[in-house]
Amino acid sequence: MEETHGTVVSNNNSSRHLRMDFSHGSQEPCIWSSPEGGHVMDIGKHIFCNRSLNMKNIVAVGFDMDYTLAQYKPETFESLAYEGTIRKLVYDLGYPRELLNWSFDWKYMVRGLVLDKKRGNILKMDRHKYVKVAYHGFKELSKEEKVCTYGNTLIRDAFDEPDYALIDTLFSLAEAYLFAQLVDLRDNNPGNFPDSTDYASMYKDVRAAVDLCHRDGTLKQMVAKDPKRYINEDPSIVPMLKMLRDSGRSTFLVTNSFWDYTNIVMNFLCTSRTVDGTRKCNFDWLQHFDVVITGSAKPGFFHDDSRANLFEVEPKSGMLINTDNGSPMPQVGDISPSSSLKARNESCRVFQGGNVGHLHKLLSIESSSQVLYVGDHIYGDILRSKKVLGWRTMLVVPELEREVELLWKLRDTRKQLRLLRNQRDLIEDKIHHLKWSLKFDDISPREKQKLSSELDALESQREQVRLSHQEAQRENHQKFHKVWGQLMKTGYQNSRFAHQVERFACLYTSQVSNLSLYSPDKYYRPSEDFMPHEFDIIPM
Ligand code: IMP
Ligand code: MG
Repeated sequence: MEETHGTVVSNNNSSRHLRMDFSHGSQEPCIWSSPEGGHVMDIGKHIFCNRSLNMKNIVAVGFDMDYTLAQYKPETFESLAYEGTIRKLVYDLGYPRELLNWSFDWKYMVRGLVLDKKRGNILKMDRHKYVKVAYHGFKELSKEEKVCTYGNTLIRDAFDEPDYALIDTLFSLAEAYLFAQLVDLRDNNPGNFPDSTDYASMYKDVRAAVDLCHRDGTLKQMVAKDPKRYINEDPSIVPMLKMLRDSGRSTFLVTNSFWDYTNIVMNFLCTSRTVDGTRKCNFDWLQHFDVVITGSAKPGFFHDDSRANLFEVEPKSGMLINTDNGSPMPQVGDISPSSSLKARNESCRVFQGGNVGHLHKLLSIESSSQVLYVGDHIYGDILRSKKVLGWRTMLVVPELEREVELLWKLRDTRKQLRLLRNQRDLIEDKIHHLKWSLKFDDISPREKQKLSSELDALESQREQVRLSHQEAQRENHQKFHKVWGQLMKTGYQNSRFAHQVERFACLYTSQVSNLSLYSPDKYYRPSEDFMPHEFDIIPM
């Protein structure tokens, strides 16, 4: 590994060979094909590969919109969802007015957590679904409580719906936080709640209120008024889309958002500001896509047998026009598409609904493995599209940028932790050996005495090393997140979230526009797999 002072540079196109150089600072989008592109790259912007993917075989690249192309600012967007939900709980569902004084710590919850709706607990588990960190509301469960509640290895819980809720999109952080607050409130003031209001029913109310905020315009109208306040600008998106299209790929958008909102968000992302800082809302952004499907109702969209009708959207009016599976349909009487639909006559058509079969037909896709889809939601975007359909997938994990950079900074600590762990093993082995020897009567009292004091010394050493190891491990995790630790790990194991990323996403990266930092013909190759028996043999 070649190392300088800061960032990471891929000098042989492999994510294992990095040169650090944090000296970037230019706000100009840097893409692979520009003279300076392709060489210097922050480690946090790498695309990581779980399964080989040769971009040469990809003919169409599709994108999800919300939290994929559009990165919302959680401090404003999730706060908006939180406040809207509280108002609905108080004014529509009769929750105590004191909720109106609550505030939202948007950094507290993380993706990958699981809510135990019945018990009012929030859990982080490892890839084997062992609960490693557990809170009741905001109160940490002791080891004993944890083992007592979740430690029965014979009855392994699936930790899935309906008793559990997965926090698997960034949209869910506010509802998880509110759930924890309500659990605390109910525990401290049981008299304020009717007996029928248990933790699970509180969760149901929160879910319903959040759902309504998404559907009744509470969130979308605010974003539409001032997108900059809620969405990060990303000047690399347009160059990325251009690069993909120049390389001969089709591009498409499949979003669950409806046309009116999609148009506002995509305008914000793709249209440059005028001199006075404003943006003209038009349909120019459509030139970057071949097909746009709004209101797609993913994950149902990915089922070929979904019978959802496909409507064509007239961009100007938002009017829906019936189609014959995507082909224009003669209209009867006066109702005909307005001139704007005919006059545009551009390559990109906008639809609502339908299913993946319609999309394949519109894009002339012969085999589903020719499609790469980029999304942020393991269940909604990635799992179904890959498992059911065989699309290739890339998951966007914005949290990864900081996580990878911290991992890099803390690499020496990690080595230390490994040493301490080995030390613990070594001392324990010695203790077991001594204890074994002491069991036998054929040793002299003097020898016995000697072994016993050796044993005492080792036991106290073991305790010391155990404490330092635990403390160092806790400190290390807290550097990633004060409560939940490293997103992709629980202790030494991969977290459940990491396991899902590994299983379902062919590629994963922190930002969608990282695609622009690589050749559109790149052959992504996974890093080598390691079994435990290989670790001590092959130097890492
Ligand atoms: P996509 O990620 O581009 O497919 O769009 C996600 C859409 O789902 C956005 O319009 C969100 O507002 C919406 N959404 C997210 N969470 C919820 C929910 O809990 N209920 C209803 N809509 C939601
Ligand atoms: Mg999304």
